Amino acid sequence: MNVHSAQTAYSIAPAETAQIAVAYGDGIGPEIMRAALRCMHAAGADLDIHEVVLGEKIYEAGHTSGILPDSWSTLRSAGVLFKGPITTPQGGGYKSLNVTIRKTLGLFANIRPCAALTPFVASNHPGMDVVIFRENEEDLYAGIEHRQTDEVFQCLKLVSIPGTERIIRHAFEYARSNGRRKVSCFSKDNIMKLTDGVFHKMFDKISAEYPEIAADHWIVDIGAAKLAASPEMFDVIVTTNLYGDIISDIAAEISGSVGIAPSANIGESFAMFEAIHGSAPNIAGKGIANPSGLILAGVQMLGHLGQQQAAMRLQNAWLKTIESGIHTADIHCATQSRMKVGTDDFADAVIDRIGEIPKLLKPAAVHGLQDAPVIAPPVRPAPAKRCLVGVDLFVRDTVVDPDNLAVRLIAATQQCGAKLTMITNRGVKVWPAGLPETFKTDHWRCRFECNDSHLKQMEIAELIMALSNKEIEVIKTENLYTFNGVPGYSLGQGQ
Ligand code: NAD
Repeated sequence: MNVHSAQTAYSIAPAETAQIAVAYGDGIGPEIMRAALRCMHAAGADLDIHEVVLGEKIYEAGHTSGILPDSWSTLRSAGVLFKGPITTPQGGGYKSLNVTIRKTLGLFANIRPCAALTPFVASNHPGMDVVIFRENEEDLYAGIEHRQTDEVFQCLKLVSIPGTERIIRHAFEYARSNGRRKVSCFSKDNIMKLTDGVFHKMFDKISAEYPEIAADHWIVDIGAAKLAASPEMFDVIVTTNLYGDIISDIAAEISGSVGIAPSANIGESFAMFEAIHGSAPNIAGKGIANPSGLILAGVQMLGHLGQQQAAMRLQNAWLKTIESGIHTADIHCATQSRMKVGTDDFADAVIDRIGEIPKLLKPAAVHGLQDAPVIAPPVRPAPAKRCLVGVDLFVRDTVVDPDNLAVRLIAATQQCGAKLTMITNRGVKVWPAGLPETFKTDHWRCRFECNDSHLKQMEIAELIMALSNKEIEVIKTENLYTFNGVPGYSLGQGQ
């Protein structure tokens, strides 16, 4: 029952009036934001608030980004955003504002603590106390998607060495300064050997620099299963963006409710604090939403702003309220709760308990708030000796016969510097020696390689021209490089 993890360890300023931007958000956002701000002021937070309107209203006014251009300067001059949940319109034409803010302002670390509050809030995992470090800018959340043929859509998964290094180092620094014993890495590098592979390799490299902290790696599927069944096994988890998004909702829900988990988004010069849950349109306006996730995000933010005393008062009052059995509907349980309350009454109960210390739940401690790990900027790798050895030409072809396609490709490119070595369909080798059982679409990856010398950029253009002359449509190209002699591309499945 340790909820220290509800605080970040990043203190940037001594206690003084702090400038913050506040966005009330959509759905339940305004209700829980009003409640959270009331609690923070009652706890002694010294805040100068600059309101910004983000999200639904801005989308509806025709701005597909969900933010007005002027609002960026408000955010940047405050340096900190306290944000209610934002509804992301579904379907094409709109981008997620949450993702845009995180990436535009360089918020690379998303820190999501999930701790059980048993026996006061029902959870099957009383010993659970996990902090998830989710990489916040890369992976499939690059949001680079294309429809390439009638049948096939693509989303690019981008993982960088510097991005990977700084989130993993942050997780270890957090563990060190918060007395955490173990950091676990979740990846899927048995399948994605380059992207998830670089994440796992970086984890192994950095973990060696922290010998006092145990380190282990889990393939994300079994790791997520173990987290759901036995979260007590885990302490700090570091993972890529999509896996982190999914497992932190699971972790929050099994700790008691998705409504109680906060989320700190930390960058080098900006920070954003929010609940992990969304705008919950199904309960918006009913006054029943749990404001706890946002209140605890407020605790994280006060710690970050150097207002530790207010942070501790607020966290202790919140813990005391939970201990008193005063619960919102999402965590209410006939046997463990004393009173079911709405959003405003819950906030009033917290305010009434400012100055009190919880008896059974572990009280807030200063140390977790004050230690401020300073993370050196990631070291950029020295440029490798790169050699262009081939190219994957992605071709749209509706004949759906790889042998026929290969004959046409070879005939068209006889005079070119690179030769056809493989065709795959959705990643599976279908030529040479494909199997008739393999399902095929209208989207073909045709690998051309030169076996003796380097391929020149111009020769790629010549390949495309040669195919175009035979009315074979190239829809995308990917260069094949070696880096210091090591291939920077994957084999075809079955190759
Ligand atoms: P959600 O988190 O809004 O709701 C999931 C379930 O949890 C719902 O049953 C909801 O009622 C419940 N719930 C969530 N927060 C609660 C709270 N504080 N108290 C009590 N119950 C709570 O997820 P969703 O329905 O998938 O998403 C709704 C919208 O929120 C979508 O537009 C999504 O894009 C957006 N979203 C925004 C953020 C963010 O702003 N950071 C995060 C996630 C989702």
